Amino acid sequence: MSNSVIVIGGGPAGLQAAATLGNFGLDVTLVEQHDVLGGAVAQHQYQVLMPDFSSGPALVARLAGAVQNNPHVTVVTSASIGAVEEDQEGFRVQLEGSHPHELQAQAVVLATGFDHFDPRRDGKYGYGLFPDVITGAELEEMFAKGPVRRPSNGEVPQSVAFIYCVGSRDRQVGNTYCSRVCCAVSAKQSIEIREQLPKARISMFYMDVRTYGLWEDTLYWRSQEESGVVYVKGRIAEVTQKAGQPVLKGEDTLVRGPFEWPFDLVVLAAGMEPSQGTRLLSQKFHVDLEPHGFVQQSEPMRNASLTSRPGVFVAGSASGPKAIEDAIAEGDVASLAVMQYLKTKVVV
Ligand SMILES: Cc1cc2nc3c(=O)[nH]c(=O)nc-3n(C[C@H](O)[C@H](O)[C@H](O)COP(=O)(O)OP(=O)(O)OC[C@H]3O[C@@H](n4cnc5c(N)ncnc54)[C@H](O)[C@@H]3O)c2cc1C
Ligand code: SF4
Repeated sequence: MSNSVIVIGGGPAGLQAAATLGNFGLDVTLVEQHDVLGGAVAQHQYQVLMPDFSSGPALVARLAGAVQNNPHVTVVTSASIGAVEEDQEGFRVQLEGSHPHELQAQAVVLATGFDHFDPRRDGKYGYGLFPDVITGAELEEMFAKGPVRRPSNGEVPQSVAFIYCVGSRDRQVGNTYCSRVCCAVSAKQSIEIREQLPKARISMFYMDVRTYGLWEDTLYWRSQEESGVVYVKGRIAEVTQKAGQPVLKGEDTLVRGPFEWPFDLVVLAAGMEPSQGTRLLSQKFHVDLEPHGFVQQSEPMRNASLTSRPGVFVAGSASGPKAIEDAIAEGDVASLAVMQYLKTKVVV
């Protein structure tokens, strides 16, 4: 068996890992379950990316081009992983799809990403009942198709509310962790809406604002100071509907007063959960999960991609919520770990 690696997942993390490993001259097979590469960025058609307002399609084109034009990388789309066996030579993986066959590899990178929290699991926001309550991912798809409109009647919204921490930091739905990107993504989206709708009332309902690190100025302060977005500290108890408009009921915890405000459009900042693929493949490859169901990084102080199983590495949001820039960086971190691992097996 030659120096071969299987990278599972064709999102930002997996694409970067596959390209870097291919550039090192290793034989790489990149397996993606969908027919498009680019992960969530492509699937939800993110047009403009947080934090730097760069182009989503351009990023996907660059990352996908780097694997498609790499002679050492074989890209297999619309495929899934079947049975997995390990012997002294490495891993034997059955590939299922239109051309089923066996792959052999000495190392595997899990880059199986995240799923969006489905707000239907938490009935209080009226998602799935009221057409003008949408998720942040659906807002990205709306930006891709054209100007922002109310799904119920196609009209221009005069007021837009964002509700933070939907499906994150919430013991009742079982997700106690913070999804890390949704505060910043919502701020970016509010700035984009303001560019389209100079007069709309845009309000952010938050528990805490976590535009951490260098994002504070360019997203949080910019959205308030340049785009006139209003931040209201308070937890939303319930979204109802009156006269065809969603109504937010809650309490402003700074001025300690209850409110009941109608909006034309409500955007739920739904968090990130371990993807089905992450859960399934962690079982097939026998890697440990951390308590929330993401792949456990076994020694993050040594290398962020190490798992509980030698030869199996993780990159990107499969090991926890993170931004694209971190997912891409971890693609390289995993490549380095794979190279070091293979050096202990055979001469590279
Ligand atoms: C609404 C929203 C907007 C966002 N906007 C931004 C932004 O502007 N900037 C930013 O930095 N971050 C943003 N993020 C976060 C961003 O989406 C993630 O950081 C990024 O997608 C993580 O990349 P990844 O490769 O780890 O995972 P993913 O993008 O989830 O890719 C994983 C890939 O693995 C594939 N896969 C899964 N299971 C299998 C399997 N069993 N077999 C084969 N393939 C499989 C999936 O189909 C997918 O293509 C946003 C998140 C949300 C929720
Ligand atoms: S990033 Fe913000 S909205 Fe997302 S879970 Fe964390 S605090 Fe809540």
